[in-house]
Amino acid sequence: MTAVEAGATHLRENPFEIARNQLRRVAEAFDIDPNLVAVLGACKKAVEVSVPVSMDDGHTEVFKGYRVTHNVARGPSKGGIRYHPDVTLDEVKSLAMWMTWKCALMGIPFGGAKGGVVCDPKRLSRSELERLTRRYTSEIINEIGPEKDIPAPDVGTDGSVMAWIFDTYSMNKGHSVLGVVTGKPLTIGGSLGREEATARGALYCIRDAVAKQDRSLAGMRVAVQGFGNVGSFLAKFMHEEGAIVVAISDSTVALYNPKGIDVPAAFAHKRENRTLAGLRDAEQITNEELLLLDVDVLAPCALEQVITDRNADRVRASIICEGANGPVTPSADAILEDKGVLILPDVLANAGGVVVSYFEWVQGLQEYFWKEVEVNAKLNDIVSRAFDETWETAHKRDMPMRVAAYGLAVQRVAEATVTRGIYP
Ligand code: NAD
Repeated sequence: MTAVEAGATHLRENPFEIARNQLRRVAEAFDIDPNLVAVLGACKKAVEVSVPVSMDDGHTEVFKGYRVTHNVARGPSKGGIRYHPDVTLDEVKSLAMWMTWKCALMGIPFGGAKGGVVCDPKRLSRSELERLTRRYTSEIINEIGPEKDIPAPDVGTDGSVMAWIFDTYSMNKGHSVLGVVTGKPLTIGGSLGREEATARGALYCIRDAVAKQDRSLAGMRVAVQGFGNVGSFLAKFMHEEGAIVVAISDSTVALYNPKGIDVPAAFAHKRENRTLAGLRDAEQITNEELLLLDVDVLAPCALEQVITDRNADRVRASIICEGANGPVTPSADAILEDKGVLILPDVLANAGGVVVSYFEWVQGLQEYFWKEVEVNAKLNDIVSRAFDETWETAHKRDMPMRVAAYGLAVQRVAEATVTRGIYP
């Protein structure tokens, strides 16, 4: 048996410390009771499990998995499951806390959770991935459920993984439980519009921000880091709006064309080859160079902490849209603030996914499914309302969008906690 541990990580700073420091800063700005800050700064529950998997060659590997619930004051907890070699408990805790704020900012009745397995899904066969997913689900089966905690996709997981979680949970309950997980394929109770929802929400935020500046998306130069669920659809939507997507990247390569990448060709190439490497009509650059390009909109849509105090002063974008969770560190935030860069923070910019996950959960509970135009219109209403509330708060209180967004969210969770009272 081999135990699989986290290797060298992409994280330079402890993400949970970052999340807690953000909470403290926001609590000060919004005058939130320190007793409540102590409650909100801790995760309600963190479960660590070992996940033994019989590999195709006959040996057994033992993976480490986590499921963390940060807070349930406003409803059952909700959050994705990440399969990545760098997953750590503190990373999962920070992502769970951000989910709490994201759901509160959007006004949807969920708390925050997150899960992860320390593994490299690209190195697993499909049947190994299925066995790992089913065993991980069995290990956390008492933690999840439609009224309790509802997983969804995140980095390294997709609709197939959600289908296996749904099936494993349902087999154990003896009947299909549609509401246990979101991001399911359409054939088994997924929602129309869910796959594109995170990117669509990000597009709505960029569109609203650009409108506030009396500019238009058409002709804007855009760079997108990450070409997975969030990045690929955001690049596609921006291209369809007439923006010029000058750079895209994935974990293997970054590509640049000042006249614009052929985004539909990139989309097809990635679907066929599972990598952007080999895409024609673009110059190869590094992922670091992509972040520093002279563009109007920079959208980091891969992992955390890619814009730090090491490179923030060289960022040339005027708008940063955080498609990923936590791509800008607090020290980079301060530098970018001084430079006048408008940051559309993660809890606002990438909340489209959890909003349509909420719609999927509601549709699953009712066993009544909506048209895609209905899903997108309702998503637009929720994201644009949250954008306006954040924009107004930021301008009224003269604070960055991040502090305003987190502040509104933390206030709502704090109010729910006070209303419910601290048990017993
Ligand atoms: P994904 O696995 O579909 O895609 C991740 C992409 O990032 C891939 O293209 C991968 O090659 C690339 N990548 C990985 N490491 C990289 C590196 N070092 N440099 C450049 N690119 C790299 O994941 P996703 O679902 O698109 O999630 C991306 C980010 O968006 C994460 O931060 C996630 O938490 C966040 N997010 C996702 C959703 C969702 O609905 N999927 C919702 C909200 C937030």
